[in-house]
Amino acid sequence: MSDYGSDTLPSTTNRTQPNILVTGTPGTGKTTTCEMIADATSLQHIDVSRLVKEKGLHEGYNEEFDTFILDDEKLCDELEDVMEEGGKIVDFHSCEVFPERWFDLVIVLRADNGVLYGRLEQRNYAPKKITENIECEIMQVVLEEARDSYAEEIVVELPSNTADEMESNVQRVVQWIELFKENHRE
Ligand code: ADP
Repeated sequence: MSDYGSDTLPSTTNRTQPNILVTGTPGTGKTTTCEMIADATSLQHIDVSRLVKEKGLHEGYNEEFDTFILDDEKLCDELEDVMEEGGKIVDFHSCEVFPERWFDLVIVLRADNGVLYGRLEQRNYAPKKITENIECEIMQVVLEEARDSYAEEIVVELPSNTADEMESNVQRVVQWIELFKENHRE
């Protein structure tokens, strides 16, 4: 993110605080990273998977894939006004459902297969679900989705295998948030 100066920030935004999307395959560290960033800044963490369950923003459960079937429209309606305020750090394993204009920075967390396998096993995911997620990570599905859905210069891929890497990711994003705020004062 070092080449990520204020001059590359989208000039169209009226937000005084940025909206950031943290995405990646399940188990790459999105929720933990978002919580740490929210603790260190004024940004509010939005855990989309939890929101979908709590507010019923889905069309039922898919037994085969062991997951909720997302209702994209309901989800975006639910978040529209919230995102308009700015200052949100959104945590979700998919990124193509959201409007491009919502985000000033998109972080894609990555993890090595062995590391990810251990984390998903710890979660007691079924073997099929573990395999699907590992394949998704190997094929860079979420990264490609992010690159297809957002401007190239706002998508940043970060490794999240170790606690040190996570700490460094958090620090970089916190610095970036401070810079954004300095450059978007009212
Ligand atoms: P996600 O939200 O992407 O599904 P989580 O934040 O829930 O991932 O992390 C899954 C597990 O992996 C948690 O137990 C978390 O503590 C651990 N973890 C995530 N990222 C790292 C990391 N970079 N280093 C060490 N442990 C991590």
